[in-house]
Amino acid sequence: MAMWTATVLLTLRMTGLLDDGASQQIQSRTRLCEVIAVNCSQFASRDDQAAIEVALRALTARNDDVLSAACRKADGSLAFASQGHQANWSPRDGEASSSTCIQVPVMQGDRVWGQVEVCFQSPAATGLLGFLALPSVKLTVLTTLGCLVGFQLLLRRCFNQLDPNQAVPERVRSALDTMAEGVVVLDEKYRINLANQQFADMIGCTVDECQGKNIDWFPWDTQDERPLSELLSELNGEDPKIFENIKLRKSETCRRTLKPNASRILNKQGECKGMLLSLDDVSVLEEQNEQLRFLATRDPMTSCLNRRSFFEYLEEAWILAERHKHPISCLMVDVDHFKGINDSFGHAVGDEVLKGVSAALLATARESDYVCRYGGEEFCVLLQHCDIDGAACAGERYRAAIESLQFPQLSVTASLGCSSADLGAESAEQMLEQADQSLYAAKRNGRNQVARFDRMESTIQEIEAAAEQDNSTAEESLLDSVKDLISDARDAGATSVSVDQLNVAIKESSQRPSS
Ligand code: GH3
Ligand code: MG
Ligand code: MG
Repeated sequence: MAMWTATVLLTLRMTGLLDDGASQQIQSRTRLCEVIAVNCSQFASRDDQAAIEVALRALTARNDDVLSAACRKADGSLAFASQGHQANWSPRDGEASSSTCIQVPVMQGDRVWGQVEVCFQSPAATGLLGFLALPSVKLTVLTTLGCLVGFQLLLRRCFNQLDPNQAVPERVRSALDTMAEGVVVLDEKYRINLANQQFADMIGCTVDECQGKNIDWFPWDTQDERPLSELLSELNGEDPKIFENIKLRKSETCRRTLKPNASRILNKQGECKGMLLSLDDVSVLEEQNEQLRFLATRDPMTSCLNRRSFFEYLEEAWILAERHKHPISCLMVDVDHFKGINDSFGHAVGDEVLKGVSAALLATARESDYVCRYGGEEFCVLLQHCDIDGAACAGERYRAAIESLQFPQLSVTASLGCSSADLGAESAEQMLEQADQSLYAAKRNGRNQVARFDRMESTIQEIEAAAEQDNSTAEESLLDSVKDLISDARDAGATSVSVDQLNVAIKESSQRPSS
C-alpha cells in the first residue's frame, strides 16, 4: 500500500500535476526583474545609462541568487552587462524566459527601448542529494515512510480483529478441546488455523502460540526425515487416512509416539482448502506393547529369552547361515553343582545365583548373540557369524564372567559345551544336541571349563586313560555316581532307582575325573 502511494505521487510529479515550486520561483524572479525594468524604464526615459548600470550592479551584488544582469537596447547592443553575462545568458530558443534566464522589456513611453536580462542560479540541485532535496521527492519519500508505518499498524490491528480464533465459535473450540487427541485445522499452506488444547499441551505451548505456525515448524521425527507437510500432501482422495506413527521430540531424551490421522477440507467446487489433522499419542500403548512383547519372549526371573522365542531366532539364524554360507555356533552353559547351592543355602539364594549368572551372560553377550534360559540352571547362547574357534573363545569369556561373580559365602562356576553348524549337524536342534554332549564332557572333565564338540573324542579318551591309571579313583567315582543318583532320585521324590539308571551311573563313574 505504501508503494502504491509512492507510485501515485511520482505519477503526479511526472505529469506535472505535482511540481517542485519551479513555476513559483520563475514568477517571483520575473517580478523582481519587472521592478528593475520599471526603474530602468525611468532611467531610459532620461537616457541615464549610468543609473541603469548602478541599478543592475546593485541587483547582482545584493542577490546571491543572481549570477549576472544586463540591459540590452532594442537594436541588440548592450547598454550594460555585468561580468560573465554573455556566457550565462542562454535563454532556450523560442522562450521569452526560463527559470534561470529572465528578460523583461524596458519601455520608453510607448515604445520598447530595450530589455533587462537577468541570469539566476540554476534552481535544480545536482546529484542524488539534490534529487532527494526536491520538494516532490521529499514529499514522496516522507509520505511513503509514513504510510509504511501507518499501514503496518493498521494491518496489525486488522489481523488481530480477523484472528480465526476469534472467528471460530466458542462452542466449536470447546468441542475440539473435549477430544483426547491433539487436533489442528491447517490451511492450504499447512499453517495452523486452529489448534485444540490437547495439541498445545502435546507440544508444550499455548493454543495462541500454535496459531499461524506451519506444521513443519514443530520438532517431528518422520520416516526418512521427510517434512510432515510432505507426508500429508500424499493425501489424495483416500481420506481420512491414518499415517505411519511419527515421533515428537519433546527433549533430547523424551520422544512421544503419535499416530496422525488426516482428512482434507474441501470447498463447494471440491478443491482442497485445508486439512483436519488429529494426532493420537500412542506412546503409552507402545510402551505397554513393548512390555508385553518382552514378557512374552523372556524368562521372567532372568530376562533371558525363553525357549520358544529362542527357537524362533535359532531357526531363522540357521536358515540365513545356510543361505549365506556364514558360520553359526552355540554354547550350552550349566551351573556347576547347583543343586548343592540350593541344598546348602536354600532356593532363594539359588535364585539369586541364577539371576547373577544370567546377568553375567547377558552382559558378556554381543549384540548378535541370543542368550536363552534353556532349563533350570542351564543356558544356551546362539553365536552368529562365529565358527567353533570363535565359539570356544566366546565360551571362555562367558565362563570367566561367571567365575568372577561375587556372592556372599559362595563362589559359582559353570561348565560349557560348544558346537558349530559345520561339525556335521543337519539341523539347529542337532547343533544344540552336540553342544549339550560337549557340556557333559566338560562336566566329566572336571567342570568350570569349555569343551568343544570337535575335540570331544580326545577328551573322553584322556579321561579313560586317567581312570585306568588310578583304579582307586574309579571306585571313588563309582561311589560318587551312585550317591548322586540316589540323591537325585530322592530329590525327585522317588523311592527306588531303575537298573538302567544304575548302569548309566556306573558308566559315568568310569569317565569321572580323578578328584
Ligand atoms: P552339575 O554340576 O552336574 O550340573 O550339578 P548340578 O547340581 O548343577 O546339576 P543338576 O542338574 O542335578 O541340578 C540342577 C538343580 O537346579 C536341580 C533343581 O532343583 C535346580 N533348579 C532348577 N531350576 C531352578 C530355579 O529356578 N531356581 C532354583 N533355586 N533352583 C533351580
Ligand atoms: Mg543341569
Ligand atoms: Mg548344573
